[in-house]
Amino acid sequence: MSTPAATPGRAPSAGTAARARGLTKAYGSGETAVLALDSVDVDIARGRFTAVMGPSGSGKSTLMHCLAGLDTVSAGQVWIGGTEITGLRDRELTRLRRDRIGFMFQSFNLIPTLNALENITLPMDIAGRAPDERWLNRVIDTLGLRNRLGHRPAQLSGGQQQRVACARALVSRPELIFADEPTGNLDSRAGLEVLGFLRDAVDNLGQTVVMVTHDPGAAAHSDLVLYLADGRIVDEMAHPTAQAVLERVRLFARDGAPSPGPGPVGGRFAGDGSPLRDGNDAAVEEA
Ligand code: ADP
Ligand code: MG
Repeated sequence: MSTPAATPGRAPSAGTAARARGLTKAYGSGETAVLALDSVDVDIARGRFTAVMGPSGSGKSTLMHCLAGLDTVSAGQVWIGGTEITGLRDRELTRLRRDRIGFMFQSFNLIPTLNALENITLPMDIAGRAPDERWLNRVIDTLGLRNRLGHRPAQLSGGQQQRVACARALVSRPELIFADEPTGNLDSRAGLEVLGFLRDAVDNLGQTVVMVTHDPGAAAHSDLVLYLADGRIVDEMAHPTAQAVLERVRLFARDGAPSPGPGPVGGRFAGDGSPLRDGNDAAVEEA
C-alpha cells in the first residue's frame, strides 16, 4: 500500500507543487523549546490531493504554515514550485503567497468588520485584481453562501464562517491550496460539499490541495495520506479508503506510530481517528 512520499513515477510531467528538505521548526528555546517539526522531507505532487493526518500536537498546522510561507523555519529549505521560499525577502514572499497560494486556516481568520462577500474577495482586492465573476458565483453557490453575503462573521454560524474561509481560499484559483481541517466545523452534508469542491479543484482545474484532517472519511477523498507523529512523517498511504485509513489509525493507536521520534511533542490517535488530548494541548487550538 505504501509508496514513497515523492512518488516519482506517478505523474512524471506533473512535478512538485511544494517541497521541503530537512524542515525543522522549534518554538521557544532552552528547556521549554518544543520541536514541532523534526527534519521533515516531503514532496507535494502537483495536481494531487494530499491529506495530512496525525495526533493533536504532531505538527500538522506547523507543517502547513511552513510550506505555505506563513511561518519561518528554524532549519531546512522549502520550495513552492521551483522557487525556494526560505530564501525570499518578505515582500517577495508576500507576493508569491498572494499570487499562488490559498490558505484555509484552522481558525478562520475572517475580518470581523467586513461582510462575507468582502471577506471572500479581500485577498484579490489587496492584490488589485478583479475576481472572475463566473468563478466567484460558482464558488458562492457551491458553498451555499448566496444569501449570507451581506452578513458579518459574527452573524454567521461556525460552519458558515468556515465556508466563507473556504471561498476566500478558492476565489483567486490559487495553484496550491492549504486547508487546515476545513470540514472540522461543518455538518456532514456541508463537509462533503467542501471536500467535493476541493476534489473538483484538483481533478478539473489542475489545482493542488494539501488538507489536514482527523476524519478518515475526509482523508478518503485524497490521493495520498501522510501521517505525522512527533514532528515527523512516519507513514503514508496512496489511494486511501475510509476503511483503510481507519485501520491504520487504529494500528497506530494500539502499537504507536512507526519509528516515533523521541521529543517533547506527541500524542496518539484514538480509535475513531480523533486525537487523544496530550500535555501540549493548551497551546494547540483545535477548531
Ligand atoms: P497539530 O496541528 O498537529 O495539532 P501544531 O503544528 O499546531 O500541531 O503544533 C505542534 C507542536 O508545536 C505542539 O507541541 C504545539 O504545542 C507547538 N506549537 C505550535 N504553535 C506554537 C507556538 N506558536 N508557540 C509555541 N509552541 C507552539
Ligand atoms: Mg493543527
